[in-house]
Amino acid sequence: MPDIAVYPGSFDPITNGHLDLIQRGLKVFDRIIVAVATNTFKKSLFTIEERMEMIRVSLADQPKVSIDSFEGLLVHYARRRNARVILRGLRAVTDFEYEFQLAMMNRRLEPEIETVFLMTGLRWVFLSSSILKEAAVHGGDIEGMVPEIVVRMLKEKFRLK
Ligand code: ADP
Repeated sequence: MPDIAVYPGSFDPITNGHLDLIQRGLKVFDRIIVAVATNTFKKSLFTIEERMEMIRVSLADQPKVSIDSFEGLLVHYARRRNARVILRGLRAVTDFEYEFQLAMMNRRLEPEIETVFLMTGLRWVFLSSSILKEAAVHGGDIEGMVPEIVVRMLKEKFRLK
């Protein structure tokens, strides 16, 4: 049985921090499923299709990574996909409390699935999708923080708005 991890998130949009985490995850797991959550209460800038397209293009050269979206409980989804692990990233201590609560809830809901945390690369500890959007909407230079396709799609999105 291959060791499969689900890496869930909003990915609104995907950043180099997320990609860094996926690279690290590939050293530990045989396959990673990047799973875009469709039912969070967060208001998103990009549609699910746009988010998945950006992820697909950014990870086109990674045969061990697949991209999907899911509705409903994450642990149910992980189970359906035969994943034993939920992969999450930690940037700074500020992530800890929320991630801790989430992991405990998921453990309560499905004790067979473990949450595994990996530390992001130092270059990306400050980087979040929300701060990135904030910078981009005001015309900040976001080159080098996200894949090329994301730079393009952010420009397009804010031009249209
Ligand atoms: P969510 O809405 O579930 O928090 P995100 O798309 O913001 O989804 O993040 C998905 C996962 O990626 C989370 O575990 C988050 O901690 C992690 N993550 C976000 N930004 C970074 C980053 N710069 N480096 C590493 N991991 C990150």
